Formats: sequence, structure tokens, C-alpha cells
Amino acid sequence: MERKDKPKLYIVIPCYNEEAVLPITAPLFLQKLETLIAKEKIHTKSRILFVNDGSKDKTWEIICSLSRQSEFYTGICLSRNRGHQNALLAGLMEAKDLCDITISIDCDGQDDMNAMDQMVEEYLTGAEVVYGVRSSRKTDSFFKRTTAQMFYKLLNGMGVETVYNHADYRLISAVVLHQFANFKEVNIFLRGMVPLVGFKSTCVYYERNVRLAGESHYPLGKMLGLAFDGITSLSVKPIRMITGFGIFVAVISMVGILWSIIRAVMGNTVDGWASLSSILCFLGGVQMVSIGVIGEYIGKIYLETKGRPRFIVSERTEAADEQKTDEEAI
Ligand code: UDP
Ligand code: MG
Repeated sequence: MERKDKPKLYIVIPCYNEEAVLPITAPLFLQKLETLIAKEKIHTKSRILFVNDGSKDKTWEIICSLSRQSEFYTGICLSRNRGHQNALLAGLMEAKDLCDITISIDCDGQDDMNAMDQMVEEYLTGAEVVYGVRSSRKTDSFFKRTTAQMFYKLLNGMGVETVYNHADYRLISAVVLHQFANFKEVNIFLRGMVPLVGFKSTCVYYERNVRLAGESHYPLGKMLGLAFDGITSLSVKPIRMITGFGIFVAVISMVGILWSIIRAVMGNTVDGWASLSSILCFLGGVQMVSIGVIGEYIGKIYLETKGRPRFIVSERTEAADEQKTDEEAI
């Protein structure tokens, strides 16, 4: 599907204590936006939207002064620090009614801005979501590279569907964002949630650079926290693992019971040992299975409380679309 209209693009950029890097990268973002406009790929009303995530330094002052310099710069300020994922979501929800497409990117210049051209190109040929994927991790330290790879392996092993080596650099169309708004959960992990929404998606590959200035806000502890959040908010696999383990223990306990009976029959045990150890083994197994079963229900309740949409209609034939619009007007 070819799209004819030039889309209005919002580049959404979360910023937390970024006074060192923002003055360097902001003009680069503007340059990118202006070249895309000049190439007639995007609408002239496209914007750069900064989200100040409750910074304690001069970040917000910088954003305000940028917005006075050029109409292309806009910004919102969160009342306090809510973390990268929430800040990004705030920006996307702000942008969804103002634009046709958003591209989210970090403000530190690590992600190659030139990949945006291809992202927009993919949108123009029909994709609704375009994931920016790192083609290599050459610029990362050995530590960051190994921990990051473990992060993706752990997530996938635990049943969270993510795009390998994709962080939060991606294009999402407003159509998808409007559906995304129906995902009401509070614990969010955008990387795992965007694939849940569906729609036509594709990947664009790029090289990641080193941070242009300032320091990373994602030390190991925070990364583990993100992985834990991702797993517990998107998957009930850990609960299933308890059930599986319970069944395993129950089976083993059967063997244990048999073994203690045999030993008792052979007569080389203390009185009462066989019955006691049989009861112990059996109860251990039963308890594990019970916890697992209860866990299954808790898992179901957990997923229900999220109130996620059960399905999303992505397209309608023309007649069906008209019918739907009439219905809404009544
Ligand atoms: N960030 C944020 N809130 C936070 C932490 C980080 O908005 O509480 C932003 C930060 O300004 C940056 C992006 O999230 O634009 C990614 O953070 P960072 O570059 O520190 O992480 P790394 O690239 O090292 O994983
Ligand atoms: Mg970074």
C-alpha cells in the first residue's frame, strides 16, 4: 500500500537530567526534521516534542528556550521523575492526536538519526510500526553488551515477545497509538507491548554510537528492574514454572514413597521412618502443585485487571467503514 499524503511527524524525546547533551543534540534533531521536510517526505507542521521527565537540572529551561528559538521545538514537563518508559508514553499520548506518525528516540544522540529517513520510507510504503534495530554492539563496553544480550535472552525465555536488539527507537503511527491508548495497565514495558498491538511492522537497521555527552541513566540495577517489570507485566510463565516444578516434585515424591516402603519392608529402618518420610514427600509435592494452581488463578486475575482489548480491528472495507462512522455519529 502506497500512501500519498505527507505525514505529520512528531519526534518524541524523553529527557532526564540532560543539560549536558541537549544543546548538542537538539540542533541535530532539528536539522534532520528540516531535511525530511525539504525532501518532501513529511508535512511542514512536523515537530520535535521533548518530554522533561522531572529533571533536577536545567533541562526544562533549555527546552523552553529552544521552543522560543524555533516553532519546530515543543515540550511537555512531567510533574516529577516517572522513569524513561512513562516519560516516553506521556510523549506518545500527547502526540497521538496532533500527528500522523511519531518516532521515539533518546536525546543522547546514541541512535543514528539518519535511520529516520528509512523509517518514514517504510511508513510511506505501508508499515504502521517500524522498529529501529541495532546492527551491532561494537560501541558498547563488554559489560553492557553481555548484560544487554542476557536481558533479551531472559525476556524471550520467559515468554515476552520482543524484537532482538531493539530499544525504544521506533516509528509508530497515530492509528496504532490510538489503539495502544486502550492498554490501560500501569506497569508498562513498551518494547513488549507494542508487538501486542499488532498491525503491519518492519525493522530498520542502524549503528549505535556512544553517548555524545552526559551519563547513562541505565546502570545494571535499573536494567534488571526493567527486565523484571517486563517479565512480570507481560508473562505468566514464572507461575507456570511453579506448577511445572510442583508436578515434578510430586512425581519425585512418588519415587521417594516407593523407596521408603522398600527400605521398610527390608527392615533396615527405624520404626516410623517410612510413614513419616512418605507423608513428608507427598505433602511437599501436593503443596507445590497447589501453589501453582492458585498461582494460575492469580495470573488470570492479574491479566484480567489490565483490561486489555481482546482484539483490534485494523482495517475495514469502505462500506463497513461508513456504517461504523454513521453508527458513531448517532
Ligand atoms: N530517561 C528518562 N527518565 C529516566 C531515565 C532516562 O526520560 O528516569 C531518558 C534519558 O534522558 C534518555 C533515555 O531516557 O533520553 C535513555 O536513557 P540513557 O541514555 O541514560 O540510557 P542508555 O542509553 O544508557 O540505556
Ligand atoms: Mg543512551
